[in-house]
Amino acid sequence: MSISDTEFLKRLSDIVGSNGVIEDPARGPGPIARPRSTEDVSAIMKLCTEFSCPVVTVGGNTGLVMGTQRDGSELALSMELMREIEEIDVHSRTMTVQAGAVLQTVQETAEAHGFLYPLDLGGRGTATIGGNISTNAGGNRVIRYGMTRDQIISLEMVLADGTIIPMQGKSIKNNTGYDLKHLAIGGEGTLGVVTRAILRMRNFPISQNCAWVGVNDWESLTKLLRFMDAESSGTLSSFEVMWKEYYEAMTGDSTPYAPPVPHEYPFYVLIELQGSNQERDQARFEEIIVQAYESGLVADAAIAQSEAERKTMWGIRDDVTLLFENGFLDTKNMSFYSSDISLAITDMDDFVKEICEELPGADQNSYVFVFGHLGDGNLHVNPCAIGPDRPKSKEMGEIIYRAIRKRGGSISAEHGIGLKRKEYLNWTRSDNEIELMRQVKKVFDPNNLMNPGKIF
Ligand SMILES: Cc1cc2nc3c(=O)[nH]c(=O)nc-3n(C[C@H](O)[C@H](O)[C@H](O)COP(=O)(O)OP(=O)(O)OC[C@H]3O[C@@H](n4cnc5c(N)ncnc54)[C@H](O)[C@@H]3O)c2cc1C
Repeated sequence: MSISDTEFLKRLSDIVGSNGVIEDPARGPGPIARPRSTEDVSAIMKLCTEFSCPVVTVGGNTGLVMGTQRDGSELALSMELMREIEEIDVHSRTMTVQAGAVLQTVQETAEAHGFLYPLDLGGRGTATIGGNISTNAGGNRVIRYGMTRDQIISLEMVLADGTIIPMQGKSIKNNTGYDLKHLAIGGEGTLGVVTRAILRMRNFPISQNCAWVGVNDWESLTKLLRFMDAESSGTLSSFEVMWKEYYEAMTGDSTPYAPPVPHEYPFYVLIELQGSNQERDQARFEEIIVQAYESGLVADAAIAQSEAERKTMWGIRDDVTLLFENGFLDTKNMSFYSSDISLAITDMDDFVKEICEELPGADQNSYVFVFGHLGDGNLHVNPCAIGPDRPKSKEMGEIIYRAIRKRGGSISAEHGIGLKRKEYLNWTRSDNEIELMRQVKKVFDPNNLMNPGKIF
């Protein structure tokens, strides 16, 4: 059937109301259905199965791998009217939300009740909990709290035929057979629509201490990670590493950021500890940084003295788009590739060196911006080449993925596969694994209606 079939659209409006179906070419071709409840989603999916209409679920649309891309033959199912925070349970330390709830709203609601919802990432103001779940989002505090997978106690999901798979309660522990939620987490909307979830909250940290350090060599960097972890009694919440080129670009003359430490080192780290007593934690933090300096692990350090200084440090780490806005790069004559790979920390230094050497046209007009969550084994390696003879972006991506495959890493540790990376899925997942994934997809979605063509 065609997506503009009059009977289909009429019955869709009967389910969600006339203002529940909209068209907005700026958001892609074809109609957008906006359910308000799990029952609406179930009825929509039953209708889509009857009419063999494929569905693309859309959250905040902040994903970067074309996971919500539509070609006009699919119905977009937007979660924008399913944003309700349904319940805070202070005893169980849980929050029950509809899947369209925005991450930042969830963070702020948790904080208002004295809790922390620890997932945090740059797209927080738009990304939804359903999108976070479907991409198993990571972010800045994985080293301490884990990925989205570690924050989800239960979830509710609607299958392609409208079946509702209910939540399993608020307990972290449940060993009654296969834990099906883990298939939906990271499923990129290919197995069903996530409609509600019970989130795990932690106590809100009273103290946050942050420092920016310069490090002289790779060995000191990895030792510093172990040292910080060992000395901070489990309070290390971020260990964000930036290679020299990224740091110098972000703190150059044409940016709003002054460098916290001089441009003299090959590596820089943003270190943050979250604890329960500001005075005591701050004193201990300063003591640890001084010890790291005295033992040579750190060559220079600046400790944030205020929330404003802390925010500036995070800005240097997070404000990546600045690179393309401040005239530092000739974006008109540029090829760029953004990656979010993972590999063993042991292999990282060698991996980055290989990428820098192998990139064609690696001269003064080329940059390899490297930064990321070192403690999680996750790096962004973003090469940038400028000039008429520059390689294509795809070629740059393949250099990265070849080097990752050689080292047994993963081509994506954050954003997923979507459409953008599906041709590379078998570079780091075996044929047997991919076949098993296809079989799982068939069990959940035998008619291939859920986000078809994504992942594989
Ligand atoms: C500035 C910036 C920084 C970012 N930083 C990080 C980071 O540090 N770590 C990280 O992991 N990601 C990061 N991202 C990527 C992105 O924010 C995450 O992937 C996020 O989880 C996507 O949420 P969303 O609601 O925008 O999902 P969308 O982009 O709308 O969708 C993503 C995928 O999930 C599916 N989906 C969405 N909602 C549902 C649902 N309810 N049920 C079933 N399927 C659904 C979609 O079909 C699609 O396949 C960043 C993005 C930006 C723009």
